Amino acid sequence: MMAQYLALKEQAGDCLLFYRMGDFFELFFDDAKTAAGVLDIALTTRGEHGGEPVPMCGVPVHAAESYLARLIKGGCRVAIAEQTETPDEAKARAKREGSPVSKALVARDIVRFVTAGTLTEEALLEPRRANMLAAIAPVRGSVGIAAVDISTGRMELEECEEGALGAVLARIGASEVIAPEDAAFPLDDAIHRDGREFASEAGAKRLRTIHGVATLDGFGHFTRAMLAAAGGLIAYLDHVGRGALPLLLPPVVRDGAGALAMDAATRASLEILEAHGGGRKGSLIAVIDRCVTGAGARQLAEDLAAPLTNRTAIGERLALVGWLHAAPLLREELRTALKSLPDVGRALGRVVAGRGSPRDLGQLRDGLDMARRVHDRLGAENDRPALLDALLPDLAGHGALVDLFGRALVPSPPTERAKGGFIAEGYDHALDDLRQTSGNARRAIAALEAKYRDETGIGSLKIKHNGVLGYFIEVPAKHGDALMAPDSGFTHRQTLANAVRFNSLGLHEEASRIAEAGAHALAAEEAHFEELVGEAIASREAIARTAAALARIDVAAGAAERAAEGGWARPEIVDAPSLAIEGGRHPVVEAALSASGERFVANDCGLAHDDRLWLVGGPNMGGKSTFLRQNALIVLLAQAGSFVPADAAKIGLVDRLFSRVGAADNLARGRSTFMVEMVETAAILSQATERSFVILDEVGRGTSTYDGLALAWAVVEAVHDTIRCRCLFATHYHELSLMADRCDALSLHYVRAREWKGDLVLLHEVAEGSADRSYGLAVAKLAGVPAPVVKRARAVLDKLEKGRAETGGIAAGLGDLPLFAAAAEAEEEQCDTLRESLRALDIDALSPRDALEKLYELKREVGED
Ligand code: ADP
Repeated sequence: MMAQYLALKEQAGDCLLFYRMGDFFELFFDDAKTAAGVLDIALTTRGEHGGEPVPMCGVPVHAAESYLARLIKGGCRVAIAEQTETPDEAKARAKREGSPVSKALVARDIVRFVTAGTLTEEALLEPRRANMLAAIAPVRGSVGIAAVDISTGRMELEECEEGALGAVLARIGASEVIAPEDAAFPLDDAIHRDGREFASEAGAKRLRTIHGVATLDGFGHFTRAMLAAAGGLIAYLDHVGRGALPLLLPPVVRDGAGALAMDAATRASLEILEAHGGGRKGSLIAVIDRCVTGAGARQLAEDLAAPLTNRTAIGERLALVGWLHAAPLLREELRTALKSLPDVGRALGRVVAGRGSPRDLGQLRDGLDMARRVHDRLGAENDRPALLDALLPDLAGHGALVDLFGRALVPSPPTERAKGGFIAEGYDHALDDLRQTSGNARRAIAALEAKYRDETGIGSLKIKHNGVLGYFIEVPAKHGDALMAPDSGFTHRQTLANAVRFNSLGLHEEASRIAEAGAHALAAEEAHFEELVGEAIASREAIARTAAALARIDVAAGAAERAAEGGWARPEIVDAPSLAIEGGRHPVVEAALSASGERFVANDCGLAHDDRLWLVGGPNMGGKSTFLRQNALIVLLAQAGSFVPADAAKIGLVDRLFSRVGAADNLARGRSTFMVEMVETAAILSQATERSFVILDEVGRGTSTYDGLALAWAVVEAVHDTIRCRCLFATHYHELSLMADRCDALSLHYVRAREWKGDLVLLHEVAEGSADRSYGLAVAKLAGVPAPVVKRARAVLDKLEKGRAETGGIAAGLGDLPLFAAAAEAEEEQCDTLRESLRALDIDALSPRDALEKLYELKREVGED
């Protein structure tokens, strides 16, 4: 056995090996230690290997799914080794092969790898989250990415520059990433596979075969890098499914320019799908999601992860939300109906992957039937928005399939297939006859019981059934002898302490009839199951489209519901690079405040080309971060096609959204936080465009005062003068307010506070102008710093301020700096002179000595000796 185990473990590689032994999956050696730790189950030992006891733990097969779920959550991957023959078959084989029958070992094989990115089981998946698997293939400076949600078969291919890979992976949020082992750059969390699997030719060929097409042109234009990634992805799916491929829908090309670009830091900082602590609670999606189906919630997450940049497409989504917003009764009716909608996409995924159950077929039937009803209901409405009209055709057209499944399946088919009982009466007459035969035999057995009681006079005689004996007649022990007589018509089968069991010819006949009819009925049901699965597979793309259309409608209805609930406004999307928000709110902070009975103070924001950069000052805890983020979230929601938490919003299309938080807020992240802050800031300065929207929260705080102020100053100047994008910059550096005089499109704002009876009252109102003073000490007092300490700090502050007034201080010193634009001009002039000198040179006419002399001269020209 150990040899077999070790051979399988070799194949399993770094996956835990679930080794099937009867009713248990057993784990050995280090696998056992890992699993026992993650699952918190007992670690025992079994036998010895190399003189050492072998660590072992096990999980019961019937409960394996829940253990698998915990292992996958714990970051493990699992290889499932099943018994591929029965013990009897193993013995027969041993006999044929001439080896000792008593030691015959049941053959086992790995039937499947269970990994985070390749799950299809309902119990292992989160209903409201897509489960993505991504493969990347670097091809000369550029990277192909193939991403698929195995549970629904949705597949997307894209290509990006190497530097943008982090942002793309952050958007996809894959639970598993695979990469070629020989990739030129390391990807820490990726699973590395043989580089030869990432071949574009092979990838294209696999896609053509899977979709039965001669060319992929009909699906879109795929680059070599994309196809290489697809090749790697499909090879991995072959490996984990041991050759059985899951559902893969035709790949869609994702064009990076079609989506609002956000890098990983921005996503994390805005807490879009996950809050800082990890998990959905406290995130944007948690407070806005009013979808009533899992598929809707997954679509919403996708919309928020990749908002649009196309005005028409955004307008279409908004029009549908607006239409449902204006029709509360219709919306209510629709949402009530969708509530009972099964997860059609995932049921289809399981069915196509060969892991479907009768229940999944029932879900397809019910889901497609519901789609038809939604189609008829919405189709009857007037003035339908364009997006709805585009979706309607996808909802209908499954009449034949619904009808077939309706006739074939019982109303609620079971999850288990092996026991049958899922094909409805009247669908197959032969099956009905078989069932009738068993029914008749069962009734005959009941009649026999009455007859035997009568004949023997034993009132307590019973006919029973169990798995070992089948049907038998049982009487209490004291009556046993009466039936033992040779001419009684009963044959003895078993004597227990207080009962004796018999058979009879009549019972035997009826029992055989039941067994035979049952076996035939099971076979018939199995055959029907395969037929129905075949029908579903034949319509897989149309079914997937229906599921997607229903999800889109659920998202729109949910968005309308959320907007109605919160008094949200429909944003107007314009081309001009402006941002005009009236009465804006932060949805997450507002929800948290209202849960504790507090009121959120709404604030306006008005950026325009000539007033594009707002410096926001004011005390700590005054609401600066909240204000910055709420405006970023409003842009994001609007471009995702949602109403926004504001009284009115006019938003100039944004191409890239950046959000950065000064290091002090992020201490938990562990890396050199200031370094991280600067790396992230550098990314903005190199990537933002005039169409971008940037929020910078206390950037520069992670270092000493002077460094920090200097950096903040330089960053604000660069954003204002060079990038010229819309920007909100929160800072506690008073000195930055001097910039208002030097930057004409920059204005000063602050969050208001008031001291009242010696205490600080934070008003959370954003006002124009600069904070009249710093409230640090007041905030310290508010936070409970002991009075003597605050008093002492006051004395120190007075001294510092006095010193600063005498020497002119930081602010005065900064006032003398040349303007950013002027400095840039001087540099450009110098370049011009250099260019002139170089052009004038006739290199061929120079002696080596002259050349050297010339080089020194050029160096002097740029100010170096
Ligand atoms: P700052 O960035 O100025 O330190 P925050 O934006 O982090 O301040 O806000 C601190 C707290 O103040 C928030 O957690 C919230 O409870 C409250 N707050 C912020 N903005 C508002 C607002 N507009 N209305 C009501 N409360 C607010």
